[in-house]
Amino acid sequence: MKRSEPQDAEVRRKIPPVICYPIHTMPRPHLAAYQAAREGWEKVDELMVPPRDARTFTVPAGSFFRIISIQGPQVGDLNLWAVDDISERFYSGKTRALHGTHLSTGDQLWSCLPYLRPMATITHDTLDWYGFDEFGGSVHDVIGTRCDPYTHKLLSGHEYHHCCHSNLTRALADRMGRAMDEVEPAVHDVLNVFMCTGFTRDTGQYFMKASPVRPGDSLEFFAEIDLLGALAACPGGDCSSEHSSDVAACYPLLVETYRPKSPPQGWTSPARNAYSRRHGD
Ligand SMILES: [Zn+2]
Repeated sequence: MKRSEPQDAEVRRKIPPVICYPIHTMPRPHLAAYQAAREGWEKVDELMVPPRDARTFTVPAGSFFRIISIQGPQVGDLNLWAVDDISERFYSGKTRALHGTHLSTGDQLWSCLPYLRPMATITHDTLDWYGFDEFGGSVHDVIGTRCDPYTHKLLSGHEYHHCCHSNLTRALADRMGRAMDEVEPAVHDVLNVFMCTGFTRDTGQYFMKASPVRPGDSLEFFAEIDLLGALAACPGGDCSSEHSSDVAACYPLLVETYRPKSPPQGWTSPARNAYSRRHGD
C-alpha cells in the first residue's frame, strides 16, 4: 500500500534539480581543430560487420573512425578498450553521468576507473537533427546495456546465441586468441549506435522504437588513445520490435578508419586520470 503524502509533498517535489556533474570545469575538446583535421584525411581501412555478428578493429590515437549504415536501418553495439590493456574499457555509466542519456557531436566516451580519461570524441553525427521525440526517445544511448542471452533466458526460458553480448564475446575471443570464458568479463555496457531509446514517462521503463537511421547515416569518432573496438550488428535490426531472436530484418554495418594529414592542432593524447589513488589511507 502506498503511504499517504506528507503535507509538504508538493514543496519537496518543487525543489529544482541540480546537475550532478557540470562539465564546464573540465577541459573540453576543441571541436573546430578536430574538424579541420578531417580536411585531406586518408581512408586507411574498411570493415564490414555482418548482421547478427560482430567484428573487432583498431584505431590509432589521432585517427578517426566512422560507423555507417548501409543497405537498411540497423542498430550497432559498440565496445571500446585500450589496445594494449583491455582492463581499460568504455564506462557507459560515467559517460551518461557526464554527458546525458544520449550522445552526439562533442560528447566523449570515457574509460573505467581508475583510468577515467576520454577514449574517443564524437566529431560528426548525421542523426543530430533527431533531438528528443514526443515519447522522450533519442538516438545513440548510454542507458541500455546490450542484448544478452542471460537476460533472454531469464525472461523467456529459451536459449539464443546471437545476442550482441555473445557476438562481442566471440569477436573479442577471436581477436585475442583466447577462450570465450576468459574474455567474456571484458565485454561491457555499450554505446547503442543509431538505437532510439528512452524511459517511459509514466513507469520509467526502458523502451526502444524503430531507429530513424537510414543508409548513408553515420556516427564519427576521433580516437583519443590507441583503441581496440568491437561492433555488433544487433539481431534486433532497427530495434522496432524484438532483439533476441532471428525475427527482425538485419543489415550489415560498415566501419571506416581515416588518418588525418596531421593531428588536430593543439591536441595531445590524454594521460590516465591524475587522482593519487590514496583513497584516504
Ligand atoms: Zn543487441
